[in-house]
Amino acid sequence: MVRTAQHFDIVVIGGGPGGYAAALYAAGAGLSVAVVEKDKVGGTCLHRGCIPAKEFLETASVFRTVGGAGDFGVQSAAPTIEFSVSQLRKQKVVDQLWKGLQGLMKRRKITVFAGTGRLRAGRKVEIDDGTVLEATSVILASGSVPRTIPGFEVDGQIVLTSDEVLALDRLPGTAVVIGAGAIGCEFASMMSDLGVQVTMLEALPKMLPGCDADVVAVVARSFKKRGIDVRVGVQVSGHKPLDAGGTTVLFGDGEQITVDAVVVSVGRRPLSDGLLDEGTAVEVDERGFVQVDEFCRTGEAGVYAVGDLVATPQLAHVGFAEAIVAVKDILGEAPVPVDYANVPWCIYCHPEVAFVGLTEQAAVDAGFDVVTKKDPFAGNGRAMIVGETEGLVKVVAEKDADGRAGRILGVHMAGPWVTEQLGQAYLAVNWEATPDEVAALIQPHPTLSEVFGETMLALTGRGLHA
Ligand SMILES: Cc1cc2nc3c(=O)[nH]c(=O)nc-3n(C[C@H](O)[C@H](O)[C@H](O)COP(=O)(O)OP(=O)(O)OC[C@H]3O[C@@H](n4cnc5c(N)ncnc54)[C@H](O)[C@@H]3O)c2cc1C
Repeated sequence: MVRTAQHFDIVVIGGGPGGYAAALYAAGAGLSVAVVEKDKVGGTCLHRGCIPAKEFLETASVFRTVGGAGDFGVQSAAPTIEFSVSQLRKQKVVDQLWKGLQGLMKRRKITVFAGTGRLRAGRKVEIDDGTVLEATSVILASGSVPRTIPGFEVDGQIVLTSDEVLALDRLPGTAVVIGAGAIGCEFASMMSDLGVQVTMLEALPKMLPGCDADVVAVVARSFKKRGIDVRVGVQVSGHKPLDAGGTTVLFGDGEQITVDAVVVSVGRRPLSDGLLDEGTAVEVDERGFVQVDEFCRTGEAGVYAVGDLVATPQLAHVGFAEAIVAVKDILGEAPVPVDYANVPWCIYCHPEVAFVGLTEQAAVDAGFDVVTKKDPFAGNGRAMIVGETEGLVKVVAEKDADGRAGRILGVHMAGPWVTEQLGQAYLAVNWEATPDEVAALIQPHPTLSEVFGETMLALTGRGLHA
């Protein structure tokens, strides 16, 4: 049944961070907006990604804190985990945020249609119940789903992706995590801290691809110390489930390991299947990403795509930024395109990782003559106070003609709460500041951020402590 078409200034397909940010920003600018969402607004990030994963990592942090309380003279029994309670707490946080988002969208008078949307020619969006919406502009934001690998069919019992891990009521006793990227490392760290014996299998020669080598070394050392067995440069070839439960994972050159569960964490693929009807000029590349220009415009006039659906860093905040670029372009406000080389990256494993800009290797490969400086958290007062001294701050700067550190190209951190410290590094890199300029700014004492300030001061040639 085809119903009479309703018209909106903007129709957004997908209510994840890319889609809801576009809707909120456009509605804030006075446009009439509809969002078509087949599941729940908030998307992967809120329901199966950033928020639940970080909530469980916080559970792991509490567990570590209680386990180490005796060092502070605080007496408590050795902690044990009741993961079903952690699951309830996680869900409460997610549901509260979900409710808040729905309320916000309602207050902005955004119309949410439940169903699966499909773009038709002429900027029409057809929902699977037959409703057709007409729009002056359409924003595609259908996001992504976990990638799987042949031979590891996801059953939710033995073979899990992030979707299933985040819904668990009970943790396995032993697990293999396939893939040592950001999400794999977060799960390995969380599970290991909560008592799971974890083995990581990574096909690439190092864990955390894209991160600076010094930062990777910090995480690798910590994982090793905590008993996480990280095997890099190994391919998995399949697994054989056992009658008694669990499975034997086959990998490398005839090696195998028997575990209770396998977490497949090998990236995410864009969800463009069935999104486009015939007759639109939107182009999709061979990997399924919708192709866009720097203003998030697709090949079809008036149709935009943002978030994980496009081949840019798969981060919620990149989706937010792209949503704003797309809406500003629709409003004719000449937006500044997202500078993808300098977006902030945060990984919430223990120890945390946060970075922005070029790694030392990437800077050298790009032809820069560089000056670098690293400072450890080990000598920092606050780090000692909180009892988390592993990690460092590393700054990569362009070497000026006089040999001194010039423009800051990248800042790389591993250690306590670095995800909360990245902000000023992000500003420094994007402002194209120099260590001389940044070192003139005061860091409060005693804080973890003094390590960042000290690294900059040292790059001026006159560090106080280093
Ligand atoms: C475990 C995990 C941890 C993560 N941690 C972080 C983190 O710490 N920081 C960070 O920045 N990023 C993180 N991410 C990535 C982040 O979740 C994604 O980058 C972000 O959710 C992408 O937003 P999006 O709006 O493009 O897509 P999604 O969040 O995937 O949302 C797309 C929405 O569209 C809906 N949809 C799809 N197709 C249709 C259709 N045809 N019609 C109607 N609705 C449709 C879906 O139901 C979904 O709600 C994490 C991801 C995972 C899996």
